[in-house]
Amino acid sequence: MHEISGKVVVITGASSGIGEATARLLAHQGAHVVIGARRLGRLEALASSIHSEGGSAVIQQLDVTDMEQMKAIIGLAQDRFGQIDVVINNAGVMPLSPLEALKIDEWNQMIDVNIRGVLHGVAAGLPVMKAQGFGQFVHIASIGAYEVTPTATVYCATKYAVRAINEGLRQEEGNHIRSTLISPGVTESELADSITDDETKQFMKEYRRKALQADAIAHAISYAIQQPSDVAVNEVIVRPTTSLT
Ligand code: NDP
Repeated sequence: MHEISGKVVVITGASSGIGEATARLLAHQGAHVVIGARRLGRLEALASSIHSEGGSAVIQQLDVTDMEQMKAIIGLAQDRFGQIDVVINNAGVMPLSPLEALKIDEWNQMIDVNIRGVLHGVAAGLPVMKAQGFGQFVHIASIGAYEVTPTATVYCATKYAVRAINEGLRQEEGNHIRSTLISPGVTESELADSITDDETKQFMKEYRRKALQADAIAHAISYAIQQPSDVAVNEVIVRPTTSLT
């Protein structure tokens, strides 16, 4: 296995859940993590916790729906560390509801964050990686990138799109730049907090009872990053062992 130590890793949506756990693990393994999200206070607390354990973390307030802000975090990583080894497009939202509820603003929010946000990460990171001649994108999709379930139609559509983006990137740039899709099953995080539809919220409470710790996904990401440069881990699905969905 190649060391993660010294790698420069940009992580979007690092203020909670999977992004936070990944920042902690990779920093512990010696990476320089450049972490972004909208909640600056959360990022400050995370960076200070990483620093107190001897790790390297730089923070930047980030809304992934804004291309300029995505360019800014990539620019910050380059300025501080001279290169970018990995961009983890992790930020995502999941306000589930049945289609008939017509929560169009929430559909648009999912499209903006989960699809356009990922494309912004690619648009900001790809020119840098091409100039360097190396790099890796890690895209956090979902089991919803492989199957559609009621109330999750639009969310799944965004995750199918993330899977398509990862695969297209692999086909176009895979000779130098690695593309990795990590698809978690139910994982403990704040993701379901954004559900506003009462019935769906209630159902998801039950559905999400069997959940992985976010750290399990962080380890899958770490595995994909630490492979030798001629090994591309393209797709990984991680579910709780007891989950059949
Ligand atoms: P969380 O809600 O805990 O984390 C989501 C992160 O995304 C937060 O840090 C949030 O930070 C950030 N975020 C949301 N909107 C934006 C935005 N516009 N710009 C920048 N950051 C944003 O959930 P998870 O950790 O579970 O989610 C991480 C990824 O994992 C998502 O893509 C999700 O779809 C995926 N996933 C999660 C599963 C689960 O069961 N937990 C299962 C399958 C996939 P802030 O609000 O501070 O901006």
